[in-house]
Formats: sequence, structure tokens, C-alpha cells
Amino acid sequence: MALGIYISVPFCRSKCTFCNFASGVFSRDRMQRYVDRVCADMADSARIAESLGAVYERDVDTIYLGGGTPSTLAPDQPEQLFQSVRERFRVLPDAEVTVECAPGTLSAEVIATLLRCGVNRVSMGVQSFVDQETRAVARLHDRAITLADLDRLRAAGLANINLDLIAGLPHQTEESWRYSVRELIASEVPHASVYILEVDEDSRLGRELIAGGQRYHAHHVPDGDQTARFYEIACDLLTEAGIAQYEISNFARPGFESRHNLKYWTRRPYLGFGVDAHSMLLARQLHPDFPESTAAVRFSAADDLDRYLAQTTSEYESSCVTQRQALEEEMFLGLRLNRGVALDALCEHRRSPLPPAFHAVVREVTENGLLQESEGRLLLTERGRLLSNEVFARFINL
Ligand code: SF4
Repeated sequence: MALGIYISVPFCRSKCTFCNFASGVFSRDRMQRYVDRVCADMADSARIAESLGAVYERDVDTIYLGGGTPSTLAPDQPEQLFQSVRERFRVLPDAEVTVECAPGTLSAEVIATLLRCGVNRVSMGVQSFVDQETRAVARLHDRAITLADLDRLRAAGLANINLDLIAGLPHQTEESWRYSVRELIASEVPHASVYILEVDEDSRLGRELIAGGQRYHAHHVPDGDQTARFYEIACDLLTEAGIAQYEISNFARPGFESRHNLKYWTRRPYLGFGVDAHSMLLARQLHPDFPESTAAVRFSAADDLDRYLAQTTSEYESSCVTQRQALEEEMFLGLRLNRGVALDALCEHRRSPLPPAFHAVVREVTENGLLQESEGRLLLTERGRLLSNEVFARFINL
């Protein structure tokens, strides 16, 4: 089974107030040390997979350079990363190759670099088309910059583009949110991601919201009910425009679903490189005669840049995924997809009957109107999508 490769690039031009990722602004020198280290990890990846009892494939059909803002790298650095991938793996001719970019970083030189690296898909963190909203969260772009970048990408032949929007930004109103979603539709991109602002201790804005303060425009953040309404509005407007929802946060015109991200939701193997990058490979021990054997191996690097650079390539956190955990994962990842989870595939993957507790949970969640069964598949209902975390939690520790 061909692999997906994810490379984390934890560098940005500035830190957005809502950001809870392990990313920041760093010197050119640290960026180069990081790129060298990621390439060393790639060189060592077959040995690490072997030592963890995992199946290591050389064929790769998706590559995703995420962040952070990979487009802040110097032009020779993405080239070094992609060259390293191509030296270690066989990148299939029709591979999907995505790079995340921030509007305002797509100079002609950067776009030329992306093309030289074989990039055929770009994901842009627009977040809003309303300048007051992007300014409030310390983004460095505005609507005009985003539209100019889109024009430049298309002129260069890069038309497979995703735009991210965030519902719940400071100063957002229903009217301004509708405007952003309509601008996205008018831009005619084939893919959209709609996220709900996360409020947690890991971002400056999240901490201020929890503290009830006013810094970072926290007192202008719409409440949870409004944000949930914005999400529903986006689902309706995008669907009407032919950009169909296929995952809780993702929408695409037919044929433009993210092949890389689908690997995560359908538990296909992937290798992640760099800070906080996670990998999941099938376990070599999987055998029909051992239904309770390990199904997969997960491992990840340090989630902090300093620790990552200080570690050797061998220092991974790893864990084995048992058949029972694999079932939990198939549910809470697969139910994110509109097409849901096929019941016969669940049994096939397990090679043993589903446990009674599983059927009891399905019955209970279905009776609560959060789940439905259709043509042998389990799917979230519309209400279930809004309360998805509660549904997913019910499938843990079956
Ligand atoms: S550009 Fe993305 S990764 Fe970087 S600070 Fe902003 S939200 Fe975080």
C-alpha cells in the first residue's frame, strides 16, 4: 500500500494570536539545521520502521508539506526536502503533492520553487476575507493579497487550491462570515476547509478568552452558539455552490478531495517527519491467525523545536495499536467522513466479530439521533456532526 509522507515545517513570518501549533519565527540558521535534520530522519526511517516491527513501503502517492508556513523557507530548502524524499522513496507519477502557504508569501520565486519541486496542490491559510478580522488575529495579509496570490498561482498552472476559513474569529458577525464564505466560493477554488476557532491554553487568544480578558480582541469573539451557526451557514452555502462536504471540516468539488488527508481518516499508512509529526505504519505481525495481534505502529518525534534538534534520529515515542484500539480509531476517524464507516470493512479488518459493547454504543448513539445506518454504513447525522466529539468519545475503551 503506497505511503503518504508528511513533513512538518514549524516556521512562520509572525505568530497568529489563535495559533496553538508548535510553530514560530526562527532564524535562517535554525531553519537550515532543521531541514538538514528532517533529511537525516528520512535517511534513517527504514531502519526505525524495521526496529519497531512496521511494514515500510517505498512507494509514495501523497506528500504534504505542512506547518507552520512552508512557503517561508528559502527556495533551496524545499528543494532539499523534496530531493531527500525522492532519494528515499519512489514517488508515483500521479502523486498528490501539497504545500501549505500563507497569503503574502507566494512570490514568483516561491511559486517557481514549488513547481520545480513537483507541487501540484496548494493549501492557503486565508482564515477570513474581512481585513478587520485577519488584522485582529495578527495575520499579515488582507483580502487583496489573497486574491493576488490566487491569480499568480493559477497563472503558473497551480489551480488545485484549498482555502482555509475559521469560524469564530474576533469581530466576526453572521454578515461578515457569509461574506467570507461567498468570497471563497467566488474565487472558484475546488476545495475549502472550515474550522471552528479552538479555545485552549495553547494559544494567546485562547488563554485570554479563558481568563475573560480583552487582549487580542478576545471580547469581540462570537459566542459558541454563534460560531456553531456560522459553521452551519458555511455547510449550506458551500453545498449550494457544488463544493460538497466530505469530512467534518472539509469540502470539495467532485474529484478534488484531499487524498493525503483521506489517508488519516481511513487509517492508511503514512510517515511524518519533523517537529510533532506523527507516523502510522501497518505492523508486520498482522496475521489472520492472530486476530488480537498488533494492527499498526504509531510513532512521533518531539513536539518542540529545541528538543527535536537536540535529539538523535532514533528518539521516537512509539506505541503499538491493538486490534481493539484500531476499531476505536476506525470509528472516530471514519465517522468524520460524510460517507461514514462500512460495517463489513470493520469486521474484515478485525478478522473477528465486533464486540457486544460496540453494538450497544451504536444503538444508544443512534437512538439519541447522532448516528444513522444507511446501506451498511454508519454515518453521523447533522446533529451528530455538531456534537461529533461526544460521539467519538463513546467509541473509546469499548
Ligand atoms: S501561520 Fe499558521 S502555523 Fe503560523 S502562526 Fe499562524 S496559524 Fe500558526
